[in-house]
Amino acid sequence: MSILIKNVLLGGRGAGRERDIFIEGNLIEEVSEAGAGGFKEREAEFVLDGRGKAAIPGLFNAHTHAAMTLFRGYADDLPLQEWLETKIWPAEARLTEEDVYWGTRLACLEMIKSGTTFFNDMYWHWRGSARAVAESGMRAALSAVFIDGFDETRAREQQKRNEALYRESKKFPERIIFALGPHAIYTVSEESLCWVRDFSEKHDLLVHIHLSETAGEVEECVKRCGGGEGGGGKGGRGGKGGRGGKRPVEFLDGLGFLSPRTVACHCVHLSRREVELLKKNEVKIVHSPASNMKLSAGRLPYEELKRAGLYENIALGTDGCASNNNLDLFEEMKIASLFQKAFGSPTSLPAEEAFGLATRNAARMFRLNAGAVEEGRLADVALLDLKKAELVPSHNLISNIVYAANGSCVDTLICDGRILMKGGKVEGEEEVKEKAGEVARELVRRREE
Ligand SMILES: [Zn+2]
Repeated sequence: MSILIKNVLLGGRGAGRERDIFIEGNLIEEVSEAGAGGFKEREAEFVLDGRGKAAIPGLFNAHTHAAMTLFRGYADDLPLQEWLETKIWPAEARLTEEDVYWGTRLACLEMIKSGTTFFNDMYWHWRGSARAVAESGMRAALSAVFIDGFDETRAREQQKRNEALYRESKKFPERIIFALGPHAIYTVSEESLCWVRDFSEKHDLLVHIHLSETAGEVEECVKRCGGGEGGGGKGGRGGKGGRGGKRPVEFLDGLGFLSPRTVACHCVHLSRREVELLKKNEVKIVHSPASNMKLSAGRLPYEELKRAGLYENIALGTDGCASNNNLDLFEEMKIASLFQKAFGSPTSLPAEEAFGLATRNAARMFRLNAGAVEEGRLADVALLDLKKAELVPSHNLISNIVYAANGSCVDTLICDGRILMKGGKVEGEEEVKEKAGEVARELVRRREE
């Protein structure tokens, strides 16, 4: 398939420049001065009129649990543990693969409509998510939730299941990246964390984990991991030495778990030593400000991480729809910036940096040649409708994107060289909303029986 986008605005500052963008297969083949590559018009199968639109890279949602769209608005305003234990986990226990398929289709629809081309997911019924992503046309890194509850039998089951899913993942389109998803250090045994470490290294897989999200998690880790020499050795249960306990990042470093493949979500509660360890291991960090605020988890020490040279390792994620409650990366960029400013200064996390978190940095995190509209990059492009009131006037497009826009400013979305949305319309949209709504109602009914 080939696509020509004519006379589209490219470039963030001021008026920008009008360009023609020619897409061949799944790559951006050429970006030229508008009109200069006119001969291409005859070659292109699809010609899009870019006048009054701006081209930006498709956005990256670096942490989510997509099918949790089914629980949007189901349980809010509760403490984290109570929320998980009394509401979310019991409902999730009844999920089927078909439920996850429809929940993920709904999530993909919402993300496509708001300019997102990639998401990093961790959820139950991996196959359901993978089918949904394959059909939606998006790009994703998908991991199955790995929880063994410190039980050896469950640990082995989970390991076997991940081995089987890894093999199965090769049957899906290349747009789908298989990743490992050890849920967190408080739900996964040391033995399994070591298994994940080794399997990830052997097959060069990304590891998606929740890390240091709440103060309680850190306290529990310090208590559980006695620390000291010999504590936290491979396959052990954590030492009981009397040298003070290890904090979560120290604990994982002790296992040799951390690497540039580690995608650590939240990282709210970090000591100076932990920041150093994250840098030493070139760990990737995902910031989910809306979720952290909603669950009173705390705030990412962004400035400290930046000072430690970790800015390029940070991306943004919405987290699941039960703790956000939408998947709009435009909102997330704004909230991330305001959250830092509220407790820092007005110069904290400026617009350019927030935009980088949702594009360039995330592309690097997931090892994708994307995150910019440039020749040779993957053809993951969003076109914004510059006639939307929020985008007028256009003194600075990046400022408008971060502080003024929302997902509904996106008019067209191209992912992997395919048009997934045009004029704000996505094929099959009504069916997806109807089916996902039905599945969600049925889930709640089953829970209440
Ligand atoms: Zn999460």
